[in-house]
Parts: sequence; structure tokens; C-alpha cells
Amino acid sequence: MEKQQKPLNIVLLGISGSGKGTQSKILYEKYNLEYIGTGNLLREFSNEDNVAAKRLKKELAEGKLAPTWLPFYLWMDKLAHVQEDKGVLFDGSPRKLSEAQLLTDVLDWYERDNLKAILLDISEEESFKRLINRRTCGKCKKSAYVEKDKEEAICDYCGGLMNIRPEDNPESIKTRIKWFKEEVSQVIQFFEKHGKLIRINGNQPVDKVSEDIIKALG
Ligand SMILES: [Zn+2]
Repeated sequence: MEKQQKPLNIVLLGISGSGKGTQSKILYEKYNLEYIGTGNLLREFSNEDNVAAKRLKKELAEGKLAPTWLPFYLWMDKLAHVQEDKGVLFDGSPRKLSEAQLLTDVLDWYERDNLKAILLDISEEESFKRLINRRTCGKCKKSAYVEKDKEEAICDYCGGLMNIRPEDNPESIKTRIKWFKEEVSQVIQFFEKHGKLIRINGNQPVDKVSEDIIKALG
């Protein structure tokens, strides 16, 4: 019996501000993937009314990394409900070597071994510059980079007021860049060692970045 082609599963990696959110939208639409965005899941969870949510909210605002079990708790619930013939896209995770190993085990168990880790590569300086200028619309929640010194930016899509995310303050940005260097670099090495890493130059216009990704995926 001919075996059906296994669904494509993607792990999207990159320092904060590397364009993961934008690229993940393009990818999950193109490849009909189930989107698992750790940042969104954690933010949503942090707005719930329970003890863990309150602790998480405080830690996220300080730029801290959520403990490993928490993203897994949120991922596993989503993953259990994804149809077997549909691929999944993890946006911005795993963030530690141990998470990468555990996630690979989980995906193997689901026979989701057709896995590609895509790294959107930008420098630390570029990351800082982008995040310090990032604003999110209070109404439609879209993000954009605004000009420096522009305090009251207006959303291009809906005219809403653009706000700074609580976690996009200089101290918290520096903390995230530091853990990317220390922790996520090990995740990148892990996928590289297993022949699953695709490195993409993130210092290019959005269209060119997606074009490079799609070309690399074949
Ligand atoms: Zn808006």
C-alpha cells in the first residue's frame, strides 16, 4: 500500500523582532498548518483569572521566560486536537534545549517526524532596534514598527491607537536577547545536528524572506 505523504511540521525560530509573527501567518496559510503560537498562548493564559496566570503576567512583564511545563501544558492541549493529516507550526518555540528534545519526542509520538526548524536570522542590534520601535494596536492587535520619538502612533489598518507592549521596555528586551543567546542558540544547534535546520536571512523585506523560506522547503 502506498504511504501518504506525511504532513509538514514547522518550528519557527528567531530572536524577538525577527518577523516570526509575520512569516508564520504567511506559512500557515500557504501550507494549511495549525498555528501554535507560544507567545499568544501565554499572553492569553496570563489574562485568565487564576493563580498561575497572575504569576505569569508579572513574570512576562519582567521579560522572564515561562517555566517549561507551562508552554507544554498549553501546546499539548492544542496538539491533541489537530487532525493527523494536518501539519502544525510552532511560532517562537521551543526556547530551551530541554524543550526542543521534549517537543521532538512528542512530535515523533504523533509520527510528525517531517519537521523543519526555520531560523529567521537577524543581529542582536537589529532585534533591539525593531523591538524598541514596536507598537501593537489596542483595537485590532496588529503590530507595526513606528518611527522613533513618535509617541502617539495610529494603526494603518483600523485607526486605533498603537500601544507599547508591556514587555517591550529596554530592560526586558535586553533580557530576552540575552536568553536567546544563551538558550535558543542551543535549540538551533540541536536542530542543526539533526539535519532539520533551515537558516534564512531575516534582514530582508518580508516578501523576500517568505520567498527564501518557501524555496528552502521545496
Ligand atoms: Zn488596528
